[in-house]
Amino acid sequence: MSLIVQKFGGTSVGSTERIKNVAKRIARWKAQGHKIVVVPSAMSGETNRLIALAKEISPMPDPRELDVVASTGEQVTIGLLSMALMELGLKAKSYTGAQVKVLTDSAFTKARIERIDENRMRADLEAGYVVVVAGFQGVDAAGNITTLGRGGSDTSAVALAAALKADECQIYTDVDGVYTTDPRIVPEARRLATITFEEMLEMASLGSKVLQIRSVEFAGKYKVKLRVLSSFEDKEGPGTLITYEDDPKMEKAVISGIAFSRDEAKITVMGVPDRPGIAYQILGPIGEANIDVDMIIQNAGVDNMTDFSFTVPRNDYAKTMQVLEKQVKGHIKASDIRGDNKVCKVSLVGVGMRTHAGVAGKMFRTLAEEGINIQMISTSEIKIAVIIDEKYMELAVRALHKVFDLDQPA
Ligand code: ASP
Ligand code: MG
Repeated sequence: MSLIVQKFGGTSVGSTERIKNVAKRIARWKAQGHKIVVVPSAMSGETNRLIALAKEISPMPDPRELDVVASTGEQVTIGLLSMALMELGLKAKSYTGAQVKVLTDSAFTKARIERIDENRMRADLEAGYVVVVAGFQGVDAAGNITTLGRGGSDTSAVALAAALKADECQIYTDVDGVYTTDPRIVPEARRLATITFEEMLEMASLGSKVLQIRSVEFAGKYKVKLRVLSSFEDKEGPGTLITYEDDPKMEKAVISGIAFSRDEAKITVMGVPDRPGIAYQILGPIGEANIDVDMIIQNAGVDNMTDFSFTVPRNDYAKTMQVLEKQVKGHIKASDIRGDNKVCKVSLVGVGMRTHAGVAGKMFRTLAEEGINIQMISTSEIKIAVIIDEKYMELAVRALHKVFDLDQPA
């Protein structure tokens, strides 16, 4: 008998019909004798609807009140799911984050979990209940309702699994696992049996939307066994197990996956003096404007002059240009500022890169053969990312997927 935490995403509980199906799935696991804690998201589209309502009243809603509103979607699904379980003859009980309690800090709309009180859940599990806990929400020390940021119920599930020392945390979603890349772009993409935490973290931060980044960090830190599975197959397959590099079950491939993101814009500050403090003078005001800078490149200085390029999320492009024009350009006497918000990022991820030379060369050759110009490059031990024109994104992903032998065997 195991203790399993099962998280169901918004599409999996998107209608009462689907909630009944989820209940049946839970009942099957329960019938095998497992102890089950379930963490549902809000019904799909519901959190967006709630936030839109708030914005109809107030364009910049008060964060505390926004959390009061946004957290209600999950309260609906925990009640409905518990009822559906009872209809099947199971004992079930629902709890909001505050009832559990899931204690967080007070950073409304992006709170962090500090502690989880597992006593109530434990007692219910012992008494044979399926425990249904609202994802995405918690409560701060002063009793205010908080939410964990969009997609936060993944993190709720992992944190509950860590607190309960669960045997496994299963994330049910609308795909049957983590894929080598998005199958909508590359039909030959295949499901990975395993992926390491580090790779998953890179994939998540590079644009793969299967898991919320913070949940992966959390699982890595607390060594929670995490599995991604489909809630749309009658009988769930093995999904993808997120594992450790030294796990003998791990697949041995050089590249595990290809991530990509259109959410990119590139900016170049030209003709800046090559002296100490320049990076700070350019990026300081951007950081103060709360804009996340990703890739950064500074050319080697020639005649004490250099160019400085970096990327920001596409949504922040206009704001970044404004900050640079107003606060930076004149100040550092840059000759020009150029921007391009039609770029994308394509990244290869794989722990196998550590031990295999030549991955970068092969990537660059492949892109060259497709006539794709690389505008920026950044690397880590297990990742190579390039910025290219967004119109070549799909071509690049497909070509790389093939060259690195990720295509499904025919
Ligand atoms: N319902 C929340 C959202 O849409 C949390 C989640 O689905 O994970 O962001
Ligand atoms: Mg989600």
